[in-house]
Amino acid sequence: MPDANVTLVQGDITEQTVDAVVNAANSSLLGGGGVDGAIHRKGGPEILAECRRLRDAQYPEGLPTGEAVATTAGRLPARWVIHTVGPVWARSEDRSELLASCYRESLRAARGLGARTVAFPAISTGVYGWPLDDGARIAVATARREGEGFDEVRFVLFDERSYGVFAAEV
Ligand code: ADP
Repeated sequence: MPDANVTLVQGDITEQTVDAVVNAANSSLLGGGGVDGAIHRKGGPEILAECRRLRDAQYPEGLPTGEAVATTAGRLPARWVIHTVGPVWARSEDRSELLASCYRESLRAARGLGARTVAFPAISTGVYGWPLDDGARIAVATARREGEGFDEVRFVLFDERSYGVFAAEV
């Protein structure tokens, strides 16, 4: 099988016309800053309402790090939002497997929904502090390995620096 069709754009993930956009959520599923804030702001209250229901019914303790769960995309130009919780970067512990798990589990959820195109942000590289070059390496390697069968797995990098670092990996 050929590698998944991994592509890069510099831009805003809330503007991507794809089947599924991935949210770098926090475990509460109740919204936050960064990508999470942007998705809820632009996608509207329907996403948060569904997150609340999911949390109450399935994740009263919060969505565990490295797992992924899907909701509607509300007013976004996508069909679904897949919420995943990235690991906070720690010098004292190698959490790479958890970061890879975010990409793998999000792709698994997307596949289960029948999505053909998926857009990812650079999970954990903002507030969660993951070094960008290492985060990019894990993101691209995992998307290549786990993205078989998708028409496109797109990384959406918000700023020029992130775009440049990801471009070196693709
Ligand atoms: P985390 O808590 O997982 O680190 P953040 O949302 O703080 O998540 O940041 C993850 C990455 O997403 C950062 O590189 C940040 O610059 C980027 N980002 C922030 N807003 C957007 C957006 N609207 N679209 C795409 N990427 C974004």
